[in-house]
Amino acid sequence: FETVNVLGLDFIKATQTEFLEQLKRDSQTKANRFIVTANPEIVLASKADLAYAKTIRSADYVTADGIGIIKGAKILGDPLPERVTGYDTLVALLSFANKHQKRVFFLGARPAVLQQVLTKVATNYPNLVISGSCDGYFKDEAKVAEQIKQAEPDFVFVALGFPKQEFFIAKYQDLASAIWMGVGGSFDVLSG
Ligand code: UDP
Repeated sequence: FETVNVLGLDFIKATQTEFLEQLKRDSQTKANRFIVTANPEIVLASKADLAYAKTIRSADYVTADGIGIIKGAKILGDPLPERVTGYDTLVALLSFANKHQKRVFFLGARPAVLQQVLTKVATNYPNLVISGSCDGYFKDEAKVAEQIKQAEPDFVFVALGFPKQEFFIAKYQDLASAIWMGVGGSFDVLSG
């Protein structure tokens, strides 16, 4: 995708639909991808923390998950088509995973929330394979990383909040050729 630089990050010029089509192709070719759906909090945090900015810049796709970014791009004279949100992307990818019996690893959120997510996923997306899961309050990070590797996932959804989730993905992305995405509070929304 072409990108537009707003506040130091390169946002992809893609509609939600165009982005999903690309991710489906990526998944079918087993590409390793790191997605950041950058909301205003993430963008601001990246301005204040150079290591975090570098981590986000290492992502394959940074989407504009906030109307402020869309407005900013417009003011700069290089508009972005629309918001591409983490939650919508997550739900669409779960449907895709269900349709194609993909393997999904769920990492993050409080234990009870994660359990509700797994129950909902098993009910609503019965053909998706839950290849593994771990709540977001683990002690042994290396063990979690090993668990993900063993699970051989096609998708890894990481709900550790920012900036933790992006640092985690950047560190372990090479353990599985999968679509990795930080999903913030989306497990909490999904569980409800
Ligand atoms: N979270 C987690 N481990 C942590 C910190 C947060 O699993 O060490 C989870 C938290 O339970 C919630 C999600 O990350 O499900 C998002 O947290 P928060 O709302 O603080 O972050 P944001 O949505 O603003 O990224």
